[in-house]
Amino acid sequence: MASILTVLNQISNIKKIEVILPIAGKIAMVTPMTVGDDLALKTSILSPANLDMELVNLLYKHTEFVEPQIADGENSGGEKKFIKPKAQTFISELSHIDKLSLLWAIYKATYESLGKRKIRCDKCGEEWEEEILLDDIIQEDTYTLLETEKQPFTTYVEKITIPLDENNMLEFTVRIPSIKNHNNILAMITKDKIESNLEKIRSTLDATEMIALFTKTLAVYPKNRPEERTETSSIQEILAALNTHINLTTAKQFTKEYDEKFGKYAIKFYKKSKCQCGNEIKIPVDIDYEFFLRGLLDRESGE
Ligand SMILES: [Zn+2]
Repeated sequence: MASILTVLNQISNIKKIEVILPIAGKIAMVTPMTVGDDLALKTSILSPANLDMELVNLLYKHTEFVEPQIADGENSGGEKKFIKPKAQTFISELSHIDKLSLLWAIYKATYESLGKRKIRCDKCGEEWEEEILLDDIIQEDTYTLLETEKQPFTTYVEKITIPLDENNMLEFTVRIPSIKNHNNILAMITKDKIESNLEKIRSTLDATEMIALFTKTLAVYPKNRPEERTETSSIQEILAALNTHINLTTAKQFTKEYDEKFGKYAIKFYKKSKCQCGNEIKIPVDIDYEFFLRGLLDRESGE
């Protein structure tokens, strides 16, 4: 005789959300959080890195890859297969951007809504409350797929070269960070610092920490003598070097150049709305910020 669990699994229709992982070039299927999952995240007082790892474990538990994949062509037909990736593959071969897509999917599967948000028209000053449904924040430009010739993203790098001073150059080898890269940088930063980032700049990482996250290798060399280079791939060394030796101008130039090369791949979640005065409004949603705000400060956006 079948167990009650087997029967329940057969007859109940668990909501499954199919989602694009734009950087890894995959399609994933995500199932909802259970009561136990939700409580585990809410009641644990964790360091940011541990909170992030809890989230990654949770996403991993609820994710399967769908085959055929994007690269196999949409019209290849045949039965869809669901494949559980290895945990190691999941954190090294998916990007932080893919993780945001999975986070959207698990919120969508579990809650449907992100709750109400205070909106203010930047034209007439009218204020109102509006519910933000997960479906509302997907737009035609939300996802930009990484070109197949740049895949896998783990080996795709670009160079950014910026003068350090009159005589020396800094060379950044930059990347799209993986889930693991992102977790490694969170582990380097204190909980207090991340809470301060969330409050002051509405982001988990500040500009320097972002640069460290995007940098695979940092090199310094005398101008005109690039062969006399000193370089490091250690995240500790990169972060320490940036904290001590990078000024605002360098940081701004880095951000501008990184944006030109990689900015288009960032996931853009936003809801389109309209004020009664006719002004069209975009309500941006930073899903990573929302998650850490709930997890670390126990607050929701707009509070
Ligand atoms: Zn208005």
